[in-house]
Amino acid sequence: MGERVATILSVTAFLFLLFVVPCFAAEKHDTPGTAEARRRMVALLKEKYDIHDEKILEVMGRVPRHLFVPEHQRKNAYEDRPLPIGYGQTISQPAMVAYMTQLARIDGTSKVLEIGSGSGYQAAVLAETAEAVFTVEIIPELARRAEENLRRTGYGNVKVRQGDGYYGWPEEAPFDAIVVTAAAPHIPPPLMDQLEDGGRMIIPVGSPYRTQHLVLVEREGSEFRTQTLMPVRFVPLVRPEEP
Ligand code: SAH
Repeated sequence: MGERVATILSVTAFLFLLFVVPCFAAEKHDTPGTAEARRRMVALLKEKYDIHDEKILEVMGRVPRHLFVPEHQRKNAYEDRPLPIGYGQTISQPAMVAYMTQLARIDGTSKVLEIGSGSGYQAAVLAETAEAVFTVEIIPELARRAEENLRRTGYGNVKVRQGDGYYGWPEEAPFDAIVVTAAAPHIPPPLMDQLEDGGRMIIPVGSPYRTQHLVLVEREGSEFRTQTLMPVRFVPLVRPEEP
């Protein structure tokens, strides 16, 4: 009898460790409603958009997006749209973040460059699957905020730098993937140079007032294959010398 009780207790303890503890670990940043809102967002990514990579869906279900938006926007954090983050900038729509991450095809050994840190959210999503993420933001206050958001949420494998992302991060190059989250009038040559052989770059190309297109660049040695994927709308990649 005593043995049976002991067995039941140890099975219960095992199940607790297996299911309940990881659940707390994944949701330690959640407040009432945020975990459920995030689950609904992931369901929408699956049903409405072509996000089929289970790893990406799992990551989208884990990163606490509500901690990357200004406090007054928290209630909208898991809605299917971009949100203002101050300084005239926006955090991209979750579906776009998931889609760009899926296109980047990164794994645990990847070194990734992001241009346009903004809130730090896309960098966090990339950091969940990459070895290291380097992200450049031109607006000093946003660079500081992105760094703070990433520190608070525990993404130790992301480095934020303030500067003009047109020039990439040459000291850390080459990168297995480059994700640009602001629209450039052309693909910046320094970013092409910093792409690893076999690497992939995802970049919105076009002017702010015309249709922009999401472009995938794949490098094979000195060859660059570009593919135009779909019309998109991003904030512009600004250049310091412009008025
Ligand atoms: N990836 C961000 C969304 C970024 S919005 C997120 O997940 O929240 C685009 C960002 O690009 C803005 O923060 C903008 O300030 C920044 N940006 C614009 N031009 C830039 C440039 N030349 N270099 C680096 N960042 C730039």
